[in-house]
Amino acid sequence: MFYSRLLIPTLKEDPAEAEAVSHKLLLRAGMIRKLASGIYNYLPLGLRVLRKVERVVREEMNRAGAQEVLLPAVQPAELWQESGRWQIYGKELLRFQDRHNRDCCFGPTHEEVITDLVRREVQSYRQLPLNLYQIQMKFRDEMRPRFGLIRGREFLMKDGYSFHASEADAEACYQDMYTAYNRIFQRCGLRFKVVEADSGPIGGSFSHEFMVLAETGEDLLASCLACDYAANLEKAEVVVAAANPGAEPLSAAPEEVPTPGVRTVEEVAAFFQITPRELLKTLIYETEKGPVAVLLRGDHEVNEVKVKNLLGVTDMTLAGAGRVRELTNAEVGFAGPVGLHLPIYADQAAAALAEAVTGANKTGHHLVRVNPRRDISITQVADLRTVTAQDPCPRCGTALEILRGIEVGHIFKLGTKYSQALKALFLDEAGQEQYIFMGCYGIGVSRIVAAAIEQGHDAQGMIFPMALAPFQVGLIPISLNDAATKEKALELHAALEAAGIEVLLDDRDERPGVKFKDCDLLGLPLRVVVGPRTLEKGAAEVRHRRRGEIVMVQLEELLSYLQENICQEISG
Ligand code: ATP
Ligand code: MG
Repeated sequence: MFYSRLLIPTLKEDPAEAEAVSHKLLLRAGMIRKLASGIYNYLPLGLRVLRKVERVVREEMNRAGAQEVLLPAVQPAELWQESGRWQIYGKELLRFQDRHNRDCCFGPTHEEVITDLVRREVQSYRQLPLNLYQIQMKFRDEMRPRFGLIRGREFLMKDGYSFHASEADAEACYQDMYTAYNRIFQRCGLRFKVVEADSGPIGGSFSHEFMVLAETGEDLLASCLACDYAANLEKAEVVVAAANPGAEPLSAAPEEVPTPGVRTVEEVAAFFQITPRELLKTLIYETEKGPVAVLLRGDHEVNEVKVKNLLGVTDMTLAGAGRVRELTNAEVGFAGPVGLHLPIYADQAAAALAEAVTGANKTGHHLVRVNPRRDISITQVADLRTVTAQDPCPRCGTALEILRGIEVGHIFKLGTKYSQALKALFLDEAGQEQYIFMGCYGIGVSRIVAAAIEQGHDAQGMIFPMALAPFQVGLIPISLNDAATKEKALELHAALEAAGIEVLLDDRDERPGVKFKDCDLLGLPLRVVVGPRTLEKGAAEVRHRRRGEIVMVQLEELLSYLQENICQEISG
């Protein structure tokens, strides 16, 4: 391919609109352009990278026995009403009406559509299992689209859904997808971790996320330094201190102390000259089952996913100031668990304290010497907080580290949630009607492009893994005015293309320095330079983008040298 014929509008400066490295570089390399918030044009080179990701995903899904389909982007509201998600999906669902005033949405995901398809086409266990996937543009009206392709509103997703006659078969398919996903991210040349994720009411370990490790990731995960335990922070368990029923009180009954204007954990700790771990914070939540109080040690963070799972609720928000006043008779900052007439759920570390400071349910007052076991009527003690790097691994007891990642894939056992809602039934061997068991498997195809760049870049630009690079080789003639150089460059270009190597010949009338810079910016893994000085030696200069190393390769060996390097990097 000739550089001069492609639309590659590179930029010299970092665009001001971009925060994330991948976003900056994708814009600078002329791979994407923004059309509207979270909506991008893919230019030729950006599309090439996207297609490479797609290809790996498609090959591995096919290898695992899944079949490709293509489902509509526009979906009728009726299906979403049937599943109940029309009401609960919220503003991320882009809704509109057609000319007949029929409600529609632009698909953010396709459980409804695929379940509808399968319920119409499948009647018997003999037609199962089925594993169907598509690679298609989704639209989610994200509250905060950002970081370019990492969190777009319109983005390319691989979404797969499997259908089974038995739960065991669904679980076996889950394992197959787990394996396929590992292969996909390995082939994409990414450093990633598979983490346990919250599986909500399904339970068991049937929800895993695939996280590309990057400092800039929006997701936090806990990973054991010794064993292979890793979980996203929402899910990571805090080990239960050996059946601790709560410490015995150290001293006399609680006492009320005036604390005017002292509200936050920091203020209270400073006022009493104690550390945050010696006080209890009381969070009041509204849920669909009514208000509840959650108790935590002052230095711990609540994990709302754990609280929701414990309570079996889906709607949970912190109570506003007015509600807090109604429920506790005090302003925010002075709520406390003693004498509070609400169900009280205490984190295990909070319940274990011997003596703590809490709000007094009276504005401008706190209680000291509160012993949870003696003074608080706790409904239930449970693990309700977010794990920290100070906690031990729940599997092996060694230390955990907290890492940042970018979620690029998610596999999930759905059970019969959608088949029940949409009445997707089959007749089993005994002629009995049963709900179809389902699983779903997502990959953020366009997000992977950005994640690969977050992991692979330096001050000069992108460093693509061979499998994803827009071209494998950048071929740079030092000067096209030199007839011998030009001829050799064209000859090499033709020979490499004929050998199936993806080569970008920089035939622009630019100084070599400009070409080198752009070649680095585009992240092409191998750069081949020919010019009078290399030709004198019958050679070309090859530079490895990632390793930075430069070697002179004899022209007659160049093809096999490049082929070897490309193969090595694609398979390794
Ligand atoms: P997130 O927590 O990042 O919002 P999600 O849980 O909403 O992700 P899924 O519904 O599981 O994501 O979608 C499958 C995959 O699609 C995700 O693993 C992610 O890689 C990708 N994805 C989700 N939302 C976006 C987005 N706004 N832009 C780009 N990719 C996305
Ligand atoms: Mg999301």
